[in-house]
Amino acid sequence: MSILIDTYVALFGVVLGSFFNVVGYRILNNRSILFPRSHCPHCMQVIRSYDLIPIISYLLLKGKCRKCHHRISLIYPIVEASTGILFLSTFLHATTLEDLIAQWLLIALIMITLLTDLNKMIIPNQLILSFFIIFVLFRMVFPLNPWWDSILASTLICMLLTIFALISKGGIGGGDIKLLTIVGILLGTKQLMIGLFLAFLFGALICGTARILKLLKKKQPIPFVPFIAIGLISALFFGDLLFIYYWKAMLGFSDYYLSN
Ligand SMILES: [Zn+2]
Repeated sequence: MSILIDTYVALFGVVLGSFFNVVGYRILNNRSILFPRSHCPHCMQVIRSYDLIPIISYLLLKGKCRKCHHRISLIYPIVEASTGILFLSTFLHATTLEDLIAQWLLIALIMITLLTDLNKMIIPNQLILSFFIIFVLFRMVFPLNPWWDSILASTLICMLLTIFALISKGGIGGGDIKLLTIVGILLGTKQLMIGLFLAFLFGALICGTARILKLLKKKQPIPFVPFIAIGLISALFFGDLLFIYYWKAMLGFSDYYLSN
């Protein structure tokens, strides 16, 4: 029975991932989310329902439009598969229903922004505004403990990142700052700070390595949302563990200095 439920949750995630793709694509192209039916952006052919099965259709069509054979970006099946995997992992990991809904909301925002940031390096304001409203309403019904942690987290992150952007002369984009500010409402200070720390850590490691290997030019702009995504998702799963290790290490240091 439990395997059946797990499979259902994973499939639900894959289907929603497909919906997130549609939302991201249509917001970028200023189209309505509900109408018209999906079509190939190259030849404008309406995509038949049997070609809209998440992941499977992409594999069967070898990543090309059935009519004009134009390449379809690999981001779409990746978003579908990752949403399925993340929905299932959070379902197995979350301790309360409230936690699970919060995590699914975060995954939804991350997946849609991944798509817009990787495609055009923008995080649309209308997306930020919609999720801002959703997160505020959610936290009014299910407040954090203490309730003002939402306000503290978003104020703190907004100030920190704005100062960082000013000092680094654009080291982080306005879209990224807005994104993390609204995520603060949902996650609170502790999880957000751990997520941000991990995002910068992964960003520095991956971009540093890419620059050493000359895969990136010196001032080439890089979308930051993939790193925010990895950081925040790692914080969801390992945040508490990292927090404990951090304080243990800090206490270890202070004991060492006090005894010497
Ligand atoms: Zn086509």
